[in-house]
Amino acid sequence: MKLTNTPVTEHQFDDIAFFLKRDDQMHPQFSGNKARKFMALLDHDDPKITTLIGYGSPQANSLYSMAALASLKGWQLEFYVDHIPTWLKSNPIGNYRAALELGADIIAVSESGLHPHEYIHTIRKPNEDSLFVPEGGRCGLAEAGVKQLAQELIDWITQQTNSQSNLNFVVALPSGTGTTALYLNKYLAPLGIEVLTCACVGGSDYLRHQFAELNEPNLPTILELEYKHHFGKLYSQDFIIWQQILNETNIEFDLLYDPMMWQCLQSWKINNPDKQILYVHQGGLLGNESMLPRYQRKYSPQ
Ligand SMILES: *Cc1c(COP(=O)(O)O)cnc(C)c1O
Repeated sequence: MKLTNTPVTEHQFDDIAFFLKRDDQMHPQFSGNKARKFMALLDHDDPKITTLIGYGSPQANSLYSMAALASLKGWQLEFYVDHIPTWLKSNPIGNYRAALELGADIIAVSESGLHPHEYIHTIRKPNEDSLFVPEGGRCGLAEAGVKQLAQELIDWITQQTNSQSNLNFVVALPSGTGTTALYLNKYLAPLGIEVLTCACVGGSDYLRHQFAELNEPNLPTILELEYKHHFGKLYSQDFIIWQQILNETNIEFDLLYDPMMWQCLQSWKINNPDKQILYVHQGGLLGNESMLPRYQRKYSPQ
């Protein structure tokens, strides 16, 4: 199975004209940057494999993407989590709900006293009929799919610059583990295309540490906010900018990562008025199913 190139669309937000790589439109279930990172597994044709094994949060975008991948491949997904909150279990929503609907087996291990990663390696012990994927797809396996994304971006930028040679493109996307931004930068930097990102999880030092684990010499540019931004916490600024973009462009972005990146870009754009932003939409919209009600309860009470 091959997924075709995703389109690039053009938008305007708050006086910023930008282009958008529509990785939210890859496939109804298998889309966004998790699909890019797991793409090599879509082409994996080992008949011995019956089971895909992963771990992380029961609300993670990677849970849903792995469930979609497993269902496309006819594999069983076993996804290990620390625990499943009671409210989520009794009222499944977002990535958790959709992964269950795709047949995922979501297994809580907190009673064993082990971290899900340790549990997999000491108790579950994957054998030759299973494939193990580290949390969020942070591994070399992700490189092939992100390289393909880089090639699509290069092809598009080359087409644009043939007709208007003064366009000066940068590629922008927020980071969690930083795997997507790092591998994109590996293929774009040699062509003089800067990759801008921001650290949504754990701050810039944490992100640089994650980059170092993947052993690449060149790093993307990390933009920062003037205040410390904690992952998963609700910020009125995030909700406001998310709504503003939705109203002005009709594009829904994810609520966990994209609002921080857009705030960084607003400040960055002031000093870089001549640069053209090519933003990578990384999917993850099912997560909004649980984030949006949290924001609405907090900031727009009925
Ligand atoms: C996972 C995810 C990210 C972060 O990707 P990394 O490769 O871990 O940096 C960003 N945005 C969305 C919507 C995601 O699902």
